[in-house]
Order: sequence, then C-alpha cells, then structure tokens
Amino acid sequence: MALSRRDLLKLGGVAAAGAALSGCTASSGGAKPSAAKAGLRMAPIPKAKGPRVVVVGGGWSGLSIAKYVKKYAPEADVVLIERRASFMSCPVSNLWLVGLVDLEFLTHDYLQAARNNNYIFLNAMVHDVDRDSKLVFTNEGALKYDYLVLAPGIDYDYSRWTKGDVEFENRLKTEHPAGFIPGSEHLSLRNKVQDFEGGNFVLTVPGGNYRCLPAPYERACLIAWFMKKEDIPGKVILLDENPDITIKKDGFHSAFEKLYKDYIEYLPGSTITKIDLDKKRIETELGEEIEFADAALYPRVRGGKILEIAGVAKDSVFNKAEANIDPFTYQTKVDPDVYCAGDVRPMGFSKSGNTANSEGHIVASMIATRIKGKEPKWKSPLTVCYSAVSGDPVRAISVNAEYKYNEKKKAFGFHNAATNEKWDGKVGVMNGKGLFEWAKGMYRDMFM
Ligand SMILES: Cc1cc2nc3c(=O)[nH]c(=O)nc-3n(C[C@H](O)[C@H](O)[C@H](O)COP(=O)(O)OP(=O)(O)OC[C@H]3O[C@@H](n4cnc5c(N)ncnc54)[C@H](O)[C@@H]3O)c2cc1C
Repeated sequence: MALSRRDLLKLGGVAAAGAALSGCTASSGGAKPSAAKAGLRMAPIPKAKGPRVVVVGGGWSGLSIAKYVKKYAPEADVVLIERRASFMSCPVSNLWLVGLVDLEFLTHDYLQAARNNNYIFLNAMVHDVDRDSKLVFTNEGALKYDYLVLAPGIDYDYSRWTKGDVEFENRLKTEHPAGFIPGSEHLSLRNKVQDFEGGNFVLTVPGGNYRCLPAPYERACLIAWFMKKEDIPGKVILLDENPDITIKKDGFHSAFEKLYKDYIEYLPGSTITKIDLDKKRIETELGEEIEFADAALYPRVRGGKILEIAGVAKDSVFNKAEANIDPFTYQTKVDPDVYCAGDVRPMGFSKSGNTANSEGHIVASMIATRIKGKEPKWKSPLTVCYSAVSGDPVRAISVNAEYKYNEKKKAFGFHNAATNEKWDGKVGVMNGKGLFEWAKGMYRDMFM
C-alpha cells in the first residue's frame, strides 16, 4: 500500500525524535548517529557567521571567556549557554547572609552582558555533547560548534558522608545546604542565619581543593559577627577536615581569637564519620560528638557533571571528575577543540572567581589566537581574594598570587604571593573598601 503524505510526515517525525533521543541518551561523548542530518531539532539561534565558539556555563569563567573571545577575535560567532536565567554572585554572598549588602549587588543580567559584548546568550541546560559531530544538546535544541568550552563549575561530592545513600544525600542537600553553589542554597542559608535563635550553628570545611579556600572562615566570622551584634545566645562551630586554615591563616586566627572568642569554636582535623539528621548530631574521627541547632554542611567538591557526559573528566589529585586537560593550553586531552576552564580545572589553583576571570582572559586569547592560525602562549592566572572578618564598617584581609610550574614536583605552586592579614585599624577598613571595589571591577569586567 502506498504511503500517504500524512504517513510520511508522521514517519519523519518519528525518525527525528529517534535521532534526537539518541543524542540525548548516550553519555560517552563519543560517536553517535549523525543526528543533525536526521532532522534534529536545532536551538533557536541565528546561523553562525564565523567560526562558532560555544561556551557552556555562564559563571565567572564562562562569562569572561565569551566576552574576550569576541573581543580578541571579532570574526568568531560566540554563544554562551547558561541554565540559570540570571547571574548570582558567590563572592560577597557571605556579607549578604548577614545583611551587609543587598541582593541587588550580587545579581546581574545575562542579556546585558550579551548585548554589550556582541555574543548570543542561550538560556538552556546542556545535557549531552557529541564530540564526533561537534554538537551540543540542550533542552532548547542542539548547536553545532567549531570550538567548545566547558566551564560548568563544581558539583558536590557527598559520597564520603552518604556512601551512596541517595535518600540521605537528598536530606543533606535540602535540610542543610552547603551554600557554595548560588541560588536557593544561599536563600535557605540566609533565612537560617537571620532566624537563628541560639545554640550551635555548625559549618564544615571539606578536604581537597574545594571552592574558595577562605570562604568558610569568612562565613564563620560574619555569622559570629551577626550573633554578637544581635545578642543571639549561640556560637559557630567550624569543623575543618584540614589540619589548619590554608590561606590567610594568621588573619583569620587573630579574628577568631580577638573578635569572636565566645562565638567561634574552631575544630581542625575534624573528619566527619557520622551525621545524624534526626538527633542533629555529628561525630568525628577524633571521637567528638557535636550537637547542632542548625548547620550548613559543605561536602567535598567535584567537577560539573557535564564533563563526564562529554567524556573529558578524570579524577585529579584533589577531587573527583575534574577536567582532563593539558594544563598549559586548557585543551582536553581527548579532543583539542574542546577546552575546560574555571573551577573544573585539575591544577591546584585557587578555585576562585578572580582566578576564573583572569584565566578566562587567557583561555579566550588562546582560542582567538588559534582562530587566527597562530600559536597560543601560556600565562599565569591571578588570584586576588578579599575576605571580610567583620561588618559595620566592613573589615577585610586579602591575598594575591600568581602560579608557577615546578618541574620537579610536576605541579603548580604559588608565585609572587602577598597577603595583607591585618584587619584592625585603618588597614582593615581600607581592605573592606577594597573588597567592594574589587567586586564592582569584576562585575564590570564580566557584564559591561
Ligand atoms: C560563599 C562563596 C564565597 C566566595 N568568595 C569568593 C571571593 O571572595 N573571591 C573570589 O575570587 N571567589 C570567591 N568564591 C569562588 C567563586 O565563586 C568561584 O570560584 C567561581 O564562581 C568559579 O567560576 P566558574 O565559572 O568555574 O563556576 P560558576 O561561577 O559556578 O559557573 C558555572 C556556571 O555553569 C552553569 N552550568 C553548569 N552546568 C551547566 C549545564 N549543563 N548547562 C548549562 N549551564 C551549566 C552553572 O549554572 C553556573 O552558572 C566564592 C564562592 C562562594 C560559594
């Protein structure tokens, strides 16, 4: 029997859906049927007008890369894909938790960044990558790329605490979110802090190279400052998996001692062995048992899951599933047209916004240089990091450093590092002002 036009259309639809599905479900990042040729639903964006650079993740890294690829290679067609509709900053969020800045200071507009910098912003979630066909799959449809940058930031690795118990992990995430990925976690944490009536407020510091080494200590200081100011009969218990504070140690220790003696109890070397959410009790390897009224439990971190889906992840010496890249070119080892940057990098650089931003300039320049057919050059990213230790007026301490490769150790270490750990007197207030100026400068660089 001859097929009607209607039957043919139906079959076409099934074939297209099948092709789309094959693109959606496979997760090796390797060969898949040629989905584009089979009538795949493409994302609703204009046709590429030059070599297309697709950047996944509109955080500190992706925003910087999208802007500067376009600046350094105006002939490139740049698309930034981000799953969130608006940007919320992690840096400075600890001050917002205790009412020292407005939410407006932290939130920014992706469309403004795209308008100002002449690239396309696609508000979508990337769920798969087919490196053979050079296709990225999103909930809005697929995109073809010439160069792909994956900058998805971190995910949490709860496995040490949960041993794979998904129900427990879900309770930890919902009842005591870490507050190290922006969005609802931060809103929950702010409400917890603002509504706190007393008792122990537990914060944890994970091992490994976690996101923003000084941020848990900054958060402890600011919550303690808030409790002191509001006369709340409570204290912060800081359970640190590490043997000591790793960065700006003297400044934080002196703030704990001089400002928050009755408000912060610092317990280094605390590896958590058990968390009882019903009894609100934590046990550590050292035999301590800590009762808590409330808590923000920060587990170890890992690379964003899209790296595994794209087949470009490996365990680093620090964390699980970070980017498997050449540390000098940021190209993945399995595919030179796919780059990874930001907090997913496996190098021991500080997982900080400033590092991601300055590295973003460098990665953008490398991609632009390649588009122009030249040889890219490595440069060290720069870490500049202010941490507030108190409010009203905000007092802060700071560090800045570059990185240098040590051939013997086969690893990067700090280079030209300088810290300013005096928080009292005029210096601390100047550093506090520096913190806001730094943040404004960063937002300007990413959005203007
Ligand atoms: C409380 C706190 C305080 C901090 N303080 C400082 C500070 O003072 N100074 C400093 O320099 N740094 C600070 N940081 C660290 C800084 O926020 C991070 O290092 C920085 O955000 C890393 O940038 P990134 O682009 O790699 O990741 P992110 O900024 O997290 O961006 C990744 C983006 O990718 C998106 N994404 C992920 N997967 C997908 C997908 N599949 N599809 C689409 N989109 C996706 C995410 O939604 C996210 O927007 C702080 C962090 C925290 C949590």
